Amino acid sequence: MNLTVGAALPYRTLERDWDVLVAGGGTAGAVAAVAAARSGARVLVVEAQGSLGGTGTNAWVTPLMRNVSGGVNLNRGLTEEIKARLRARGDGATDTGGNDNWFNPEGLKFVLDDLLLEAGAEVLYHTHVAAPLLDGERITALVVHNKGGLQALRARAFIDATGDADVAAGAGVPMHAGDEDGLHQAMSLRFTLAGVDTARLREFLNACGQWQDSADFLHFWMVWGRKSSLEPLFRQAVEAGTLLERDGDYFQAFSMPGRPGELSFNCPRIRADLNDGADPWQLSGAQLDGRQAITRLTAFCRAHLPGCENAFVGVVAPMVGIRETRRIEGEYTLRVEDILDSRKFPDSICRNHYPVDIHSVKGGAKLLHERDGEAAYFAADAWHEIPYRCLVPRGVSNLLVPGRAASSTFEAQSSIRVQQNCHTMGEAAGIAAAWAARDHAGAVRAVDVSALQAEMRARGGLV
Ligand SMILES: Cc1cc2nc3c(=O)[nH]c(=O)nc-3n(C[C@H](O)[C@H](O)[C@H](O)COP(=O)(O)OP(=O)(O)OC[C@H]3O[C@@H](n4cnc5c(N)ncnc54)[C@H](O)[C@@H]3O)c2cc1C
Repeated sequence: MNLTVGAALPYRTLERDWDVLVAGGGTAGAVAAVAAARSGARVLVVEAQGSLGGTGTNAWVTPLMRNVSGGVNLNRGLTEEIKARLRARGDGATDTGGNDNWFNPEGLKFVLDDLLLEAGAEVLYHTHVAAPLLDGERITALVVHNKGGLQALRARAFIDATGDADVAAGAGVPMHAGDEDGLHQAMSLRFTLAGVDTARLREFLNACGQWQDSADFLHFWMVWGRKSSLEPLFRQAVEAGTLLERDGDYFQAFSMPGRPGELSFNCPRIRADLNDGADPWQLSGAQLDGRQAITRLTAFCRAHLPGCENAFVGVVAPMVGIRETRRIEGEYTLRVEDILDSRKFPDSICRNHYPVDIHSVKGGAKLLHERDGEAAYFAADAWHEIPYRCLVPRGVSNLLVPGRAASSTFEAQSSIRVQQNCHTMGEAAGIAAAWAARDHAGAVRAVDVSALQAEMRARGGLV
């Protein structure tokens, strides 16, 4: 069958179809695909890059942020399996404090390929989802673009795990984006420095008051005005012209298991006027701005951090790190009050105690656990829940949206967006989409959520 998009662009509808089509094989999408395939669905993942994992691999975002309450990790199921597989490869590790969230992004690509193939799902790499085709409130196919030109891929149920809600936006789902002024969280272009003498660097950091237990698990930082012992060095470098003032707005580095002598930097922050990762021009500008900042930061580390004298850029992340763009309007919108009240929901699919964590382009970083208050949130064993309804977009019947674009306010999104929650949301979406395709012609609202919760528990989940 040959149809046209607009007036001129022909696309071909493939003869094959799938039960579940996942747009974006990133943090949430890769897990969703595995979970759906393990539920018996015929699954295809369409991914723009050449590997799975999204922000966790191609934006080099490591480690996983801890999501712990009362000493218990709140994310289980597939996220635990991924961590165990990373450790088995030497690409994951637990530090002396019992934090098991350290990983090597490159290793994660292999783990996710294996999980996907073992589950029997298919993946189409280097393929961009362009637009959904709709029949009323039902998506019938996604038009994708790749070396084969424009093609329409049909399925019963769809998962939009693009992070930017590209499919939902194309389907006309109401959207929110940015804060009250429409400004998004800052983007960052992550990179690594290799050739670091980590033993010497550890000695230096310990001497200057940023205590490091082990040279294998380094974590150090500097943010202007936050009493980092590295601040005087940054000031000196700004005065000498090595760094720009804004290079000190957020600086942070971590070790990675399986990559001795290499550090992963959670910076540079991209220029404040380039903050919309769903705008292709800003995204392109971010790549250029980020690389220039990496040149400055590399010079700074070589000149000022003992152990880094011979360091060189190991990796510049192929994807710009994007914290927040579009968020769908779903059947429920998670608010900061739900977090502060540690609110529980009958249709919960994920537990969270990671704080509100806003990297604002207006300056500084905002962390909920620095607020005063009597709210239930501040108890050591507190947690709130994310309802299934946050993944269900208004106005479309057969689509789920897990990950950072799930339905939440700007503030609440900054809390639930961390990778392990994206895994858990992806797992819930994968099972639900498989069941919707099998039993309800794709209708995601018809899924029995108490059965979904029981299935997640049977797979090791904590819901
Ligand atoms: C700089 C930075 C630092 C962070 N620090 C941490 C941290 O230390 N620990 C932590 O746990 N979390 C951290 N986070 C948050 C976390 O990493 C992200 O919120 C999370 O990974 C997002 O997952 P996702 O599945 O929603 O999107 P992604 O993982 O970004 O996945 C989206 C996928 O969809 C693909 N895609 C997008 N559009 C299309 C399209 N149209 N067609 C086909 N494919 C498409 C992309 O290539 C990608 O693979 C950080 C985020 C950033 C940006």
